[in-house]
Amino acid sequence: MNLQDRDSRVIWHPFTQIATAEKNIPIVRAEGVWLFAENGQKYLDGTASWWVNAHGHAHPAIAEALAKQASTLEHIIFAGFTHEPAIELAEKLIHLIAGEQSRIFYSDNGSTSVEVALKMALQYFQNLGKPRKKIIAFEHAYHGDTFGAMSVGHRNAFSAAFGELLFDVEFVPAPEKHNSAEALDLFSRIVHQNDVAVFIFEPLVQGANGMRMHEASALSQMIHLAKSYGTITIADEVFTGFYRTGKSFATKYLSEQPDILCLSKTLTGGTLPLGATAVPEFIYDAFVSENPMHTFFHGHSFTANPLSCSAAIASMKLLLENTCQENILSISNAHAAFKKLILGNKSIFEIRHLGTILAIELNTDAERGYLNPISKEITQFFLDRNIYLRPLGNVIYITPPYVISEEELNLIYSAILEFLETIQ
Ligand SMILES: *Cc1c(COP(=O)(O)O)cnc(C)c1O
Repeated sequence: MNLQDRDSRVIWHPFTQIATAEKNIPIVRAEGVWLFAENGQKYLDGTASWWVNAHGHAHPAIAEALAKQASTLEHIIFAGFTHEPAIELAEKLIHLIAGEQSRIFYSDNGSTSVEVALKMALQYFQNLGKPRKKIIAFEHAYHGDTFGAMSVGHRNAFSAAFGELLFDVEFVPAPEKHNSAEALDLFSRIVHQNDVAVFIFEPLVQGANGMRMHEASALSQMIHLAKSYGTITIADEVFTGFYRTGKSFATKYLSEQPDILCLSKTLTGGTLPLGATAVPEFIYDAFVSENPMHTFFHGHSFTANPLSCSAAIASMKLLLENTCQENILSISNAHAAFKKLILGNKSIFEIRHLGTILAIELNTDAERGYLNPISKEITQFFLDRNIYLRPLGNVIYITPPYVISEEELNLIYSAILEFLETIQ
C-alpha cells in the first residue's frame, strides 16, 4: 500500500473536510523551498508551510544544532529545573524585542502562547485585588483553535459548533482605511468604562482573515488609549513576528508598544513547535507574592523543550545574518514590483503587501472569505504548476520562506499571471 492509501486509513487531517478533500500528497523529503513528493513531483512551498518556515526546509545549521542538543539534553521538567537553551533563547528574544518585555513564558504553539497571555492578564487584575473581566478583540480576528483563543477570535465557521461555550468578548472593527475613525470611536467608548482587562489584536495583518491589513496610526492610538485606562494590551505576533512583515515584529511599525507579545510559528525557523509569551516586569511582579493563590498555575509537559529552544536559537542566528536580512528586503521589493505590474487587473479586488507578505484578493460573486469555493480551483491550478499555495477563500497569497530566490519567486508570479488570464 502506498503512503496515500495508508494515510486515508488512519489519519485525521487538520482543517480538512474529509468528504470533499483531495487525497493528501505524501512528501518524502524537503530542501530549501522545495517539497519532494513520493510520486516524484516537487512543489514550491509558497506559504512557508502554514507561515512557519524561515530558512528553507531541513536547514543544515538547524539540523546540526538539533542533533547536538538531542544527544546532550533532549527534555526535562521545567519546574524546579532549568537549562541553557531556554535561558539563552529568552535572552535573545528579549534583546530582539528591545522593549518593555523582560520575561519569557514558554509553551507549545501559537494558541497556547495566546492562552498564557490571556490568563496572565486576567489573573494580574485578580492578584491586584481589582478584578476585571472585559476583553476587547478585533472583528475577524484569529488567535488559534483552543477555547480561549477561539473565544477572542471571530465567531465564524471555525468556532460555530462551540458558539455558546465561548466567553464573551467585545469585538471592534480593525481600523482599516475606510473605517478607522468609527473603529477608534467605538474602541474609545468601550475602554473609557475603565473595566477592560485585555485588548488583544493581530498587529497590522489579520493573517487567517485573508491577510487583511489595517492602519498603524489608528492601532497605535488604540494601544495608547487602552494603556491609559490600565488595560493590558496583547499583540498576537504569532504570524507577524520574526520579520514576516519586513521588521522584526509588526509592532515595530507602531508608535505605541503593547505590554505582551505572543510568539510562535517562525520562532524555531519552522522546525519544531514552540510558543513564547513575552511579558513586562510589572505583570511578573503581580505574581511575586507570599500568597500561593497568586501563583501562575499554568504549564505544559514540554514547556521550554530544549530541542525546540535550540532550533529557535539556531534560527535566530540565521535570521539576523546579513544574507537573510537582504533576502527579506529583496522579497519585499519583488512583491512591490509585482503588485505594480498587476495593479488594475479586472479580476482583482485588492492587492495587499507588507514585507514578505503579498495577498491578492480576487473579485468574487460569492461571499468574501475562507469558505469561498474558488480556493480549491486555485490550489489545483498551482499544484499543476508545481507550486503549493493554499488560498484563503478568494485570496491568493504568498508568504515564502526567506531563502526563496528571485527565480523561484518569478515561478510563482508567472503562475499567478497565468491564473489571472484564465479567469479574465
Ligand atoms: C497561527 C496563528 C495562531 C495559532 O497558532 P498555532 O501554533 O496554530 O496554535 C495564533 N495567532 C495567529 C495570529 C496565528 O496566525
